[in-house]
Amino acid sequence: MSRVIAVVNQKGGVAKTTTVANLGVALAQAGQRCLLVDSDPQGSLAISLGQDPDSLASHTLYEAMVLADEGAHKDLKDVILHDQQGVDLIPANLELAAAEIDLNSQYAREYALSRLLAPVRDAYDFILVDCPPQLGILTINALVAADSVLVPLATNYLALRGLQLLLRTVRLVQSRLNASLRIEGLLPTLYDRRTSHHQETLQEVRRIFGEQHIRVFETVIPRSVRFEESPITGTPAVVYAPNTPGAQAYRELVQEVLINA
Ligand code: ADP
Ligand code: MG
Repeated sequence: MSRVIAVVNQKGGVAKTTTVANLGVALAQAGQRCLLVDSDPQGSLAISLGQDPDSLASHTLYEAMVLADEGAHKDLKDVILHDQQGVDLIPANLELAAAEIDLNSQYAREYALSRLLAPVRDAYDFILVDCPPQLGILTINALVAADSVLVPLATNYLALRGLQLLLRTVRLVQSRLNASLRIEGLLPTLYDRRTSHHQETLQEVRRIFGEQHIRVFETVIPRSVRFEESPITGTPAVVYAPNTPGAQAYRELVQEVLINA
């Protein structure tokens, strides 16, 4: 049975998509069978993996998850892409934006992703879900489908604001919809070790969440221009620039995630 990890933060630009792509491919490189699910209408995950989300017509998460009951899609297998980097992908594109409205009129709307993934959970060791920058119905679906939540967190002061709202949402989901949801950990990202403000913020994160018994990963993802370049190549940094500190950091994260099993 796979472990489903939702990668969540309602802030944009904190490296959710980068983390799903790099952690997913690095897990695959370590021999784990991985399915990556793009649950963001921006479709950035597909682009990061070299797919053009706009050419996928009716083969996306939207058809499989939202229109499933209308017979629009017969089989989840039809929307799963097999990526050259050794991961499988359920892509998304702008159509998924309609899910926020469509799902609201459906029964058990918070369980749509969980239902969708149930038949393939045995086929993978890990399923990583890339969430949009909101705490709307798509993110709630990811939290309900997940065993754990991983929160990428940029190491600057403003990034910390909003985290309590996110943790409150996790607690609400735990009490009402998914009692077994755990916090996998907070992942410091975009870290510049030469900036004293980043160092101080990282210390604060470790202190505050240490007191709350919320895990902060030992791994810290450094800021590096390689991450910004790599989507152009259609490969994540662990493939595009495997010997850089950023790629190494994601491989260390793999070890932490595997130990946490
Ligand atoms: P999110 O999915 O949270 O919106 P992204 O993963 O799309 O965030 O990252 C936002 C931007 O920051 C992208 O341009 C990405 O290439 C860049 N980025 C991500 N991680 C890093 C990093 N460690 N160093 C530098 N740039 C990064
Ligand atoms: Mg993203």
